[in-house]
Amino acid sequence: MNCSTELKFIADENVCKLGRWLRILGYDVAYHSQFSDEELAGIALKEKRIILTRDHDFLEMKTVERCLLLESTSPIQQLKQVVDTFNLTPTEDKIFSRCVKCNVPIERIEKRAVVSKVPSYVYKTQDTFYRCPSCESIYWTGTHIENFKDRLKSFIIA
Ligand SMILES: [Zn+2]
Repeated sequence: MNCSTELKFIADENVCKLGRWLRILGYDVAYHSQFSDEELAGIALKEKRIILTRDHDFLEMKTVERCLLLESTSPIQQLKQVVDTFNLTPTEDKIFSRCVKCNVPIERIEKRAVVSKVPSYVYKTQDTFYRCPSCESIYWTGTHIENFKDRLKSFIIA
């Protein structure tokens, strides 16, 4: 396993779209719109997370160990900066391996267990399903994932 995949992040409110993209790529990213700067720095220190932000104030805070100041306002450009800075190597099998809502890894679930939980056309056309152990959301490889893959193509190694 590549050790860069084990880096953990925390995204400031001003870059939460970036946080979402990183989660979609399978990275462990905490974010919450209600975090104050101090709370965010505290969580980063406790959980050894790298702070992603556009706010210069974090660079002045004594409790901040690792922080990346994002240059661009564009989430895709920010993602590029994170990938380049930390030499991340996103792979196709990692995409959507984590619940976008809860930030926990999702688990493979048997098809018959989701029969009452997904739309019937999805059940008929899909064979592989995953469940978030935290919020119980059901995930499958649908067209929305293909769309994400198209948008993220330039970042994906294999
Ligand atoms: Zn979840």
